[in-house]
Amino acid sequence: MSALLLPFATRISDLNLVSPDEVPRGAACNCQCPGCDRPVIARQGTEREWHFAHAKGGACQQGYEVSIHEIAKQMIRDRRELLLPALDIEVSATDSFGLRIEERMHVLNAKTVHLDECKTSQKRDEVTADVAGRLADREILVEITVFHRLMPEKRDRLIATRIPSLQIDLGEFKVSQATRAKIEVALFENAMNRHWLHHPRMEQARREAQTKLDAKLAQRRAEWQLVEEKRQEEHAKRQQELAEIQFSLPSLLERSAEPITFNRPLLGSEAMWRASFPTRENILRASQSLAARTELGITNVMAVIGTITSRRQLATTTPANLATEWAAALNLPEDEILKFLHEAGYILV
Ligand SMILES: [Zn+2]
Repeated sequence: MSALLLPFATRISDLNLVSPDEVPRGAACNCQCPGCDRPVIARQGTEREWHFAHAKGGACQQGYEVSIHEIAKQMIRDRRELLLPALDIEVSATDSFGLRIEERMHVLNAKTVHLDECKTSQKRDEVTADVAGRLADREILVEITVFHRLMPEKRDRLIATRIPSLQIDLGEFKVSQATRAKIEVALFENAMNRHWLHHPRMEQARREAQTKLDAKLAQRRAEWQLVEEKRQEEHAKRQQELAEIQFSLPSLLERSAEPITFNRPLLGSEAMWRASFPTRENILRASQSLAARTELGITNVMAVIGTITSRRQLATTTPANLATEWAAALNLPEDEILKFLHEAGYILV
């Protein structure tokens, strides 16, 4: 900040902001600082940019910023010229996939207009605009910022006037020494340092952009639902496959360990009891299988099978004898009983 020199001062005779080259040098300039109202001297040296300095030494905090703000207002007023910014509308949202989508709408190009009338520091409703210009029957308000951003309350009050309003941001002079020539370029040639705060076509354009964005969002939501349904289907399919594998695993293992050979006469008198009594689960599974094969009820099958409950009971008979006995009791071929005895694990093949 200390490196930035006071580029303009207020000439006491007419209260206009002036550059050092518009006034006599030194104290004869008859000017004061626009920030603190103390007298200044015009420095027209050969080393540095011509500038003003407080006569009693020491700069003030706000002089530099206020001088730029005030001369910008004055320049627009004197030229009665305004560079209007483009009007671009942008709305955005997050779609069903979590991605940001935007909808942009270009409404107006930037353009320079020549005002019929232009005044500075004009009060409209509850707010004082830096500049108020009139173009035919249309008014335009201008707010200029230099070091500080436009406060939301002031922006809201400007918008509330329903008068077309724009903001010009001269923040570039926070870091670069302001001169009249540079400010002229910033004010009348650079359309990028400004934007509309309020414009009559803004709301309509925003509604149109929002409608397009909503359609895009609905499309994305439909796409997402399709993807999600497919994902759930795939998941259910995988679960089903998994369940089938788990279901078939024990019987596969059993079968591979003990190939079934019932259509051979091997089973019969040669069959021998296993060393241990089959598990309850194996007996039940083989009984269900027998009941299903022969269309006998499981209760009938169990009534007969259930008479033998230990290895000790088996030791009193042979597989062939038991097959004959149970076949008679159930009215089935003996082969069916031998098949059952094998499946349940009563006998060795
Ligand atoms: Zn000052």
